[in-house]
Amino acid sequence: MALARFVVGHESMIRRLERQRAEGRIAHAYLFTGPPQVGRRTLAWAWGMALLCREADPPCGSCRSCRRMQAGHHPDAFLIAPEGSSLKIDQVREAQRLLAHTPVEGPYRILVFDQAQEMTTEAANALLKTLEEPPSYAVLMLIAPSPESLLPTVVSRCQIFPLEPLPVPVVRRALQERWDLPQDQADRLARLSGGRIGWAVQAAQDPEILSAYEERIQRIHMLLTQGRAGRFAFAEMMADEDEEARSAFLEAAMAWWRDVLILASGADLPLTHEEDRPTLQEVAGRVGFTGARAALEATRRTWLALQRNANARLALEAMFLDWPEPTGEHI
Ligand SMILES: [Zn+2]
Repeated sequence: MALARFVVGHESMIRRLERQRAEGRIAHAYLFTGPPQVGRRTLAWAWGMALLCREADPPCGSCRSCRRMQAGHHPDAFLIAPEGSSLKIDQVREAQRLLAHTPVEGPYRILVFDQAQEMTTEAANALLKTLEEPPSYAVLMLIAPSPESLLPTVVSRCQIFPLEPLPVPVVRRALQERWDLPQDQADRLARLSGGRIGWAVQAAQDPEILSAYEERIQRIHMLLTQGRAGRFAFAEMMADEDEEARSAFLEAAMAWWRDVLILASGADLPLTHEEDRPTLQEVAGRVGFTGARAALEATRRTWLALQRNANARLALEAMFLDWPEPTGEHI
């Protein structure tokens, strides 16, 4: 399990990859799916590092090839990410030119396409040609939220590795052992991460990420005291934000309502927002299990609808109608 030294969690995916390597069945195309920041790109890059490392139990992490991979300038491995808002046909053509050359050092030439769902149709069709007839040394890796976010013809050429959010204890242990965070900080970030190790590590390094999260929770508190006018004004404002900001808010709201639901149901489960227990308890007492469940379902529905490009303002307005009414004195 040498890959596990470079990737947190995802053991069954690692076992699958290492079995392929042991049996010499390396695929020409992989698709790593899952939510952002669960470790898809880290796993893809570590797999590339393993394929190019010549040591006995790759990736060793210390040979010249591994060191160049880690620094991001191995002559046989390339990361292709969207330029601006999309992954364009010129980028795919450039990638194809890179693949036209045989490997400089290792046995493979590796191309990792980050956010492959942002590929334009022309780019995807161009890539399809390479996927249909890849050079013997080519290994392509695509990273996307789900197979549905790509053309079916592209997906059908790839081996799919679905990555799930990690269990919170796995994130907590990794933050303590690999990133040397103190226990209380590791515990809090692991809970708030929802199993996305990449988020937790970034939040540990950049205090603004945590304060942005805290602002979202404050915003939820405020919305709960506001009537329709205040909530709809917020929906209008959010409609002008980018997709990332909207899903970040909705994900925080889902986790928050889940906490309310846990408290309303009396279940003995850990809370994501343990620090917010007094407010959560108050809301759980007021809206009850049914109210909490309705709010959580409405929030989740909206999050899904916005992933399918629904009208953001209308979807958010509909969601707020399903959130509990504010208490009397605030209307
Ligand atoms: Zn190595």
